[in-house]
Amino acid sequence: MINGLNPLSTFVGKMVNNEARAGRCVTCLSPRASHGLCRDCRADLPRNRWHCATCALPMAFPSPGMCCGECQSSPPPFSRALIPWRYQFPVDGMIGRYKYHGHRKFARPLLNDFGEFLKQELAPANRPDTLIPAPMHWLRRWQRGFNQAQDIAEYLGAHLDIPVAGRSVRRNRRVKAQRSLGRAGRLTNLDGVFEVCGQIPHRVAIVDDVVTTGATVRALARVLADAGACEIQVWALARTPG
Ligand SMILES: [Zn+2]
Ligand SMILES: [Zn+2]
Repeated sequence: MINGLNPLSTFVGKMVNNEARAGRCVTCLSPRASHGLCRDCRADLPRNRWHCATCALPMAFPSPGMCCGECQSSPPPFSRALIPWRYQFPVDGMIGRYKYHGHRKFARPLLNDFGEFLKQELAPANRPDTLIPAPMHWLRRWQRGFNQAQDIAEYLGAHLDIPVAGRSVRRNRRVKAQRSLGRAGRLTNLDGVFEVCGQIPHRVAIVDDVVTTGATVRALARVLADAGACEIQVWALARTPG
């Protein structure tokens, strides 16, 4: 079963990242792991089972085909969001170790399972022409060393045989964390942040690691729609509860 990720000592962290342990479960170190997770830990991942039909906001009860209040009052410029997990333990810790510490081993099981999830969810008619990773400001990318959205998009692109357009949208400036702002502030905070600098196909999927308030993917989808995209999906590993 899953051990706490947060209390992992540096020593255990090193063991997990040691290539000699590459075949073990990243959360409990069981040797019986497939793509980095054992069967019990995989079964314990917080699936986003009940969610808004459009933006995948987690819901507390089964609600087939229902949309959340925000999507009803202000429909987003994308048609649907495919997000398999909730941003909760241990998915939050796994994404954090991947994103902030560059430990790709923690993302490996999520990427593999996300690829399989998409293969099941995507009807041939719903396949996007291109994947568009959520762009990162150049300074943040330089500080972090990589853009996790680009990394995720490249994995999924190879897994599903869909091209990735990593340079067709640019992020012009850094913004305050959306979560710290009210609704009006969130919208003005993102004014002019994204700029299209390439040809945008008709059917695209925006790829990101985590969707929090949804305002960022809305802003990105808006500039893609203005540039000619007519069917836009959002693909992300995890969605924060509302
Ligand atoms: Zn395990
Ligand atoms: Zn919604």
